[in-house]
Amino acid sequence: AAKEAGRNRAERYDPRLRAAHVAHAVLADQLRAAVDGGSGFAVHYQPVVDVHTGRVAAVEALLRFTAPDGAAVSPVRFVPVAEETGLICRLGAWVLERACTDARAWHASHGISVTVNVSGRQLRDPRFADDVLATLKRTGLPGAALVLEITETVLVTATVEETEAVSRRLARLRAHGVRIAIDDFGTGYSSLAYLRTLPIDVLKIDRAFVSRVADRQEKALFRAVVELARSMYLQPVAEGVETGEQAAALRELDCGFAQGFLFARPMPADALRAHLATQLTVAA
Ligand code: C2E
Ligand code: MG
Ligand code: MG
Ligand code: MG
Repeated sequence: AAKEAGRNRAERYDPRLRAAHVAHAVLADQLRAAVDGGSGFAVHYQPVVDVHTGRVAAVEALLRFTAPDGAAVSPVRFVPVAEETGLICRLGAWVLERACTDARAWHASHGISVTVNVSGRQLRDPRFADDVLATLKRTGLPGAALVLEITETVLVTATVEETEAVSRRLARLRAHGVRIAIDDFGTGYSSLAYLRTLPIDVLKIDRAFVSRVADRQEKALFRAVVELARSMYLQPVAEGVETGEQAAALRELDCGFAQGFLFARPMPADALRAHLATQLTVAA
């Protein structure tokens, strides 16, 4: 124990570790203040397109945070801190409300859906399904226009009871037309088991598979994932498409939907409105 205490003390005074702890604490404080003050956050939207026509089929809502000094902080950095501190529940509810509000008009004019990332902490809240349904009612967005993205890691530390509770919540939402997507598919642990455990509709194939899809061997792997999705009646969506070569491979493999910098980057709601205005509206 004495040895352990000594090591902890040594860690505490390692300047680099100390700097990391301080940065983490500062970020946690900034996030808390921003959530309380209702400022510093914004939701951007990235189109998900039909690879054959290039038309926008959906948009993914992506949270943005600007620190008080004006610096943009990546969600890769602040989302884990928001999860640890529990702030993600209030923050996630805010993103959902914002996304449903913005998407209502886009759904009415262009028939597009909105996909929202949901963290494990939110899913483990017993009120989660009620809250989502209340948000849909308040904003007027039809359930069929909402997709919730969850990652496989959601269930890694969950007990059997928790997993069943999460499945029940998702099933309840699905009964209202809401679709469930597995995000970053292929990067988690027991990927295949989740497909059986959770009620899902969409498989978002991680960028890691997509980036090398022009390579012959990688293409075979990607094709297997697309076929797996199809055999389970799941809609495959390719993430992180950056080149025309990758897009051509997706068309050839008949992976119908894709998202990536090649098509469009995440953008504020106003920019997305302008982007959609260049497309035909849904025939009334
Ligand atoms: P994600 O849900 O997998 O979102 C896709 C990420 O890939 C986004 O990063 C997007 O900007 C990026 N991306 C899209 N196309 C390309 C491409 O062609 N190339 C490359 N290199 N990247 C591309 P972003 O916005 O930085 O978000 C990172 C992650 O943060 C998200 O990954 C998601 O896990 C998390 N996140 C973002 N917003 C939320 C939120 O509202 N709630 C929760 N719980 N997590 C969020
Ligand atoms: Mg996502
Ligand atoms: Mg993803
Ligand atoms: Mg990702």
